[in-house]
Amino acid sequence: MKTLISSDVRLLADLIRKGGVVVFPTETVFGIGASSFNEEACKRIYKIKGRPSDNPLIAHFSSIESIKSVCEVSEIAERLLLTFSPGPITLVLPKKNPIVFPKELPTLGVRIPKNPIIREWIEECGSPISAPSANLSGRPSLTRMSDALRYFDGVVDGILVAEEPKLGIESTVVGLYEDPPVLLRPGSIESNDLKRFLPNLVMPNSVTERGEFVPPSPGMKYKHYSPKANVKLLPSEKFLSEFRKCMYDSKTAWIGFSYVLNPSPGDESLEFDPTRMKFVSSNWEYSSALYAFFEFCDQIGIHTIYCEEPKEGEGKEGLLNRLQKASEDN
Ligand code: AMP
Ligand code: MG
Repeated sequence: MKTLISSDVRLLADLIRKGGVVVFPTETVFGIGASSFNEEACKRIYKIKGRPSDNPLIAHFSSIESIKSVCEVSEIAERLLLTFSPGPITLVLPKKNPIVFPKELPTLGVRIPKNPIIREWIEECGSPISAPSANLSGRPSLTRMSDALRYFDGVVDGILVAEEPKLGIESTVVGLYEDPPVLLRPGSIESNDLKRFLPNLVMPNSVTERGEFVPPSPGMKYKHYSPKANVKLLPSEKFLSEFRKCMYDSKTAWIGFSYVLNPSPGDESLEFDPTRMKFVSSNWEYSSALYAFFEFCDQIGIHTIYCEEPKEGEGKEGLLNRLQKASEDN
């Protein structure tokens, strides 16, 4: 398939109106989208990603008004949208227009991306854009244009060239279709920010206390965010001691805050390849770099990626969730 790679939003909107599938960057990660009113095009996304058919797609909008045309927007939903949108938050709301994909579901995840160019493109498309993250199902999302091109050139109808994702992890997802509201996926907008508006917000863990675990969001039951390499999530002290022990093993890679590269005398002959170590100085920088680093490690055949635990405080919640998911079963 010939893929149109362009920054021209009108050309890329044309593709969507003709039933095409387009990969595009947002402030969180890359998305792979089609018109929410075109069921066939949306179903192609599942095929391309290998996504389980019961995992619904988020719809992307250019404005709060356009969300109101397809969903019931309660007073509290509107306050959340006015406070956090455009931005990295998805609200799952009761749906009022049954033709929006997926037709059979009574709810819809809605989000307004931050980049005005992406909103202009959605506006130009004349419909909401249903889009999951642009990655193979289960694998880390993509955050670099070079990775998006490697995976999707020749596979989708178009790739919209615009600013690369800065946040690096997927949006916070909040379910507002029942009481109490539920945090379906942690992200850069954290539960403390949300609790100012939703004091009775429940976390996924407390949902499991109902006895039998019924995942409140289909996405919660699937493996996520995992590179091919094993991921080991370690507290700082253990991270450092493992680093000293294994750093010269060329199949290991390291991402974290602590970086002590002082080979003892006599060790100078051992070469440490600095590209196998990603040094970060905040949780935000860690999130921003994480998936691109995972992708890089898979490209160069790393077998174990050691990840230092996030620091207490801002930016920890979403990052820790992704690191825990990526390290499950390792
Ligand atoms: P992604 O696949 O990266 O776009 O992630 C979207 C997440 O939101 C997945 O975990 C989905 O299961 C969840 N989600 C999307 N739509 C709904 C919905 N209507 N109800 C509950 N969860 C949803
Ligand atoms: Mg995803």
